[in-house]
Amino acid sequence: MLIILDRDGVINEYDGNYICSAEEWHPIPGSIDAVARLCNAGHRIAIATNQSGIARGYYDTDELDAMHDKMAQLVEAAGGHIDFIAYCPHHPDDQCDCRKPLTGLLRQIRGHFHISALTGAIMVGDSRKDLEAGAAEGCQPILVRTGNGLDTERHLEARPIADTRVFDNLAQVADWVIGAGL
Ligand SMILES: [Mg+2]
Ligand SMILES: [Zn+2]
Repeated sequence: MLIILDRDGVINEYDGNYICSAEEWHPIPGSIDAVARLCNAGHRIAIATNQSGIARGYYDTDELDAMHDKMAQLVEAAGGHIDFIAYCPHHPDDQCDCRKPLTGLLRQIRGHFHISALTGAIMVGDSRKDLEAGAAEGCQPILVRTGNGLDTERHLEARPIADTRVFDNLAQVADWVIGAGL
């Protein structure tokens, strides 16, 4: 199965402040191992992440690459592999088609894997925009309570997104996916 992950607040710690360097990029405990376990269970891993800090001038693509190298190396050391990272470098005012909740990043992922639809894939995020983007492309939306997740969960009660499942963190998502034999 294809599993699409948001980055900030799902894989790495996120408190609302931009992560501007590899030094500031810290994995959430258990998240790297969760990615590796999913890979070992036969799943493919892609990441779809909004990175408007680039358009805002907080960091550049070299620094973003350094963060992603750090993430990839940690995952590889744990025995896993991230197949593809799609990121939106644009500002919210840029009117691009890739900033979540729009689905350009998910379409890039579809293109990378040469698949015509994401029906049957999973989208894991900590923000409403992740779940909306995933649902719009036919993914199973999964909310984690890390990062913005608790806040997002509160707001979901008033404005639900159909079929959303909620877990405490990515480790619990991996337990569920693997345990259910998905
Ligand atoms: Mg996030
Ligand atoms: Zn964009």
